[in-house]
Amino acid sequence: MTKFEELGLSQPLLDAVKDMGFETPSEVQEKAIPLLLESEIDLVALAQTGTGKTAAFGFPLIQKLDSASRTTQGLILSPTRELCLQITNEIQAYSKYVKGLNTVAIYGGASITDQARQIKRGAQIVVATPGRMKDMISRGLVDITKIDYCILDEADEMLNMGFFEDIKDILSNTPKDKSTWLFSATMPREVATIAKKFMNNPTEITVGAKNAGTSTVQHEYYVVGGRDRYPALKRLADANPDIFSVVFCRTKRDTQRVAEKLIEDGYSAGALHGDLSQNQRDLVMNSFRKKQIQMLVATDVAARGIDVDDITHVINYQLPDEIETYTHRSGRTGRAGKSGISMVIITRSEMRKINAMEKKIQQAFLSKKIPTGIEICEIQLYHLANKIKDTKINKDVENYLPAINDVLEGIDRDELIKKIVSVEFTRFSNYYNKTKDISSSDDRGRDRERGDRDRGENAPSNGSVRYFINVGEKDGYDWMSLKDFLRDTLSLGKDDVYKVDTKDSFSFFNTEAEHTEQILSFFTDFKLEGRFINVEVSKNPGGSGGGNRGRSGGGRGRSDRDSSDRGGRSRSRDNNRSSSRGKSSHSGKRRSGSSSSKSRSDFF
Ligand code: AMP
Repeated sequence: MTKFEELGLSQPLLDAVKDMGFETPSEVQEKAIPLLLESEIDLVALAQTGTGKTAAFGFPLIQKLDSASRTTQGLILSPTRELCLQITNEIQAYSKYVKGLNTVAIYGGASITDQARQIKRGAQIVVATPGRMKDMISRGLVDITKIDYCILDEADEMLNMGFFEDIKDILSNTPKDKSTWLFSATMPREVATIAKKFMNNPTEITVGAKNAGTSTVQHEYYVVGGRDRYPALKRLADANPDIFSVVFCRTKRDTQRVAEKLIEDGYSAGALHGDLSQNQRDLVMNSFRKKQIQMLVATDVAARGIDVDDITHVINYQLPDEIETYTHRSGRTGRAGKSGISMVIITRSEMRKINAMEKKIQQAFLSKKIPTGIEICEIQLYHLANKIKDTKINKDVENYLPAINDVLEGIDRDELIKKIVSVEFTRFSNYYNKTKDISSSDDRGRDRERGDRDRGENAPSNGSVRYFINVGEKDGYDWMSLKDFLRDTLSLGKDDVYKVDTKDSFSFFNTEAEHTEQILSFFTDFKLEGRFINVEVSKNPGGSGGGNRGRSGGGRGRSDRDSSDRGGRSRSRDNNRSSSRGKSSHSGKRRSGSSSSKSRSDFF
């Protein structure tokens, strides 16, 4: 394995690497750093976010600059304010031992005068969003005519956001003999055009497969009637109690509407779109990062640059117009080596888009059914039981125990458990008993090869058996590793275990009925690290709730409102407070102050 010391980095940078706690270079760093240090080349690097690409261009840039000169020598263009700030922070951390090096961020939504003042003090590196950059050039507040290096970060996103003309204008203010390094997750035609037009015979490096979505993401689609989109969304959330997701809508209006409905229905949700002021957007993003918001409903533009690593699900409430945009959406999950799920809620008339998207991501979509009410109730019941089991006892409860014992006197243990569980469970069963199931059939009629998890959907349901197992994400499993564990432990074939849905401390999976006897007898006395593993046949053969990668910790808030008219999820009292807070600040109902009249460069 290559070490940082072997890449040709100077001591101040190696010291910073040590401080950052980086042990070995990532693939893109290993490939790009020596190349960029050795020669003056143009580079096209295909790498997703989360691969360490900022350091891949940041280290060589810092090392090559003359920190004794105050001239601006390096320009980094990035699509959003969030990303711009993130890159600036990273570069500042990498260059902390390089004396005299200044990196300044310029972006919309903040004081242009302050930013101009910082530039004037001397900034060898400028990190900018295209809108604000253009603005500052036209006002003569920044000079990029002497730069040696120009980095276009997340080029595909910048072009998707319509920054082609801005980038062209910005580049026309830079010297011809500079080096240009372009980083992009995908290589659509527009990016290739930029490379051809503005770069000189660029060297190309690729991390992972070209144009492919990350393989850690499972893609699922759910066919519903046009009017059932919202109930379908609620069911997907209810079937995944630990969901931490971005829900994509096509328009700002739909984004606002869906977020408001979710909040009204008691979910911890927030809206993120361009009609909110920068301040409102910052508030929502902060709450999302702190996981006070479980479902962030966003437009594509507003969600660009969201850098939150442990998103469990991306939900496409509506499909985007451009297929390319789907790649960006799904890339918000499955980051940093974790698995994630991208769900598409789709009507029959849109089905042909699935084929086109599969081609684009080079991965098969799984056809899934919106969970039935019974399935959701079952998931919620196990979730609740586990939550009770894992709840740390609050010492203050002791004071009230004598009185509580008086109240509960005469109720035996079994009855008490039933009553406790019923407190939450009844709400779900009441709601779902009243609602009919909403899945439409998938008439895509495909008989081609699909992902191996999909096998269960096509298998006759009477031959398929669903199991409950008392291990889950807390034990370090996600659906992929649990599937491997089951297959290896039971010596089953590649496709014998399917529909593996992991929850926090339990999971579900399916096999054909022919394996049931073997599985149940195997697990009657099977111990894993000293603990008995319990496998039972679950009541439902389906399990279409989608695997949930879940996440560590818990404690996301929920609204405190009574939700007798809905399915909702189990909520703990201590969570309710943060949720109510989230509700008032993120419902977007206080939109009157938002600046819909602002120009795009104000936001980006
Ligand atoms: P990026 O792809 O540049 O957005 O980086 C994603 C995250 O990985 C950032 O938080 C970096 O600080 C971190 N990172 C970058 N390089 C390494 C490395 N070699 N080892 C561990 N973490 C890294």
